[in-house]
Amino acid sequence: MAKIRIPAIFVGHGSPMSAEIDNYYGKQWREFGKKLTKPKAILVISAHWNIEKTAVSDLKNPKQIYDFYGFPQWLYDLKYPAKGSPELALQIKNLLAPLVQVQIDNEWGIDHGAWIPLASFFPAGDVPVLQLSLDSTKPTEFHYALGKMLRPLRDQGVLIIGSGDIVHNLRELEFEENAKPFPWAENFEKKVLQAIDGRNHKALIDYASFDSKASLAVPTAEHFLPLLYVLALQEDYDQLEYFVEGIAHGSISMMSFVLR
Ligand code: ZN
Repeated sequence: MAKIRIPAIFVGHGSPMSAEIDNYYGKQWREFGKKLTKPKAILVISAHWNIEKTAVSDLKNPKQIYDFYGFPQWLYDLKYPAKGSPELALQIKNLLAPLVQVQIDNEWGIDHGAWIPLASFFPAGDVPVLQLSLDSTKPTEFHYALGKMLRPLRDQGVLIIGSGDIVHNLRELEFEENAKPFPWAENFEKKVLQAIDGRNHKALIDYASFDSKASLAVPTAEHFLPLLYVLALQEDYDQLEYFVEGIAHGSISMMSFVLR
């Protein structure tokens, strides 16, 4: 019999402007958030904590990081009051110990890859939030394996969120959010969705070689890797449901899904 588990989410976080009240994507995030049950804690694997080690913070009150530049002042004034979770940090350290020694790093905090979508999913900010860094020195197989090891957390009330973008090219970015998507971006996203639907995780672990335009769609790994963590959490009985679709600014996939 299938166990009752907390969902796992992949969110295409796109631009910080998704936090705007009338934003097309932010609106969908808020609608989706209304249907979520409040978890005990949230673990976020954000594209924006990309360092040369696997780390967590063990602070009770981590700082909120405004790690974006040139945006309107109101975004820098947004407060997301989530606490940290030293307990979960310790639990993760123990859980991942067979594969990697998780470091404690309190230099970072809650970055926009985490708090921008969370402010829509759980606006009260009353659930503790912890981030796990992406170790940029490791191959994609390592990230997938790490994701698998996080599976027990879903039985313990922890909501795991991978926050990145399946297609993320800032060089090719169009100014308008609703600009027509580039064909290479649409094609790549379509192929990724087919692989997700077919549970062909191996193709996604080897994403760099599964499409001739992969280097355009995924010029750097960090926005793609959070997807591998969430796919690795997928159990046979999980239903996969897309809750946001679309490509913003021509080259940023906003595609988001939940496993439950
Ligand atoms: Zn980002």
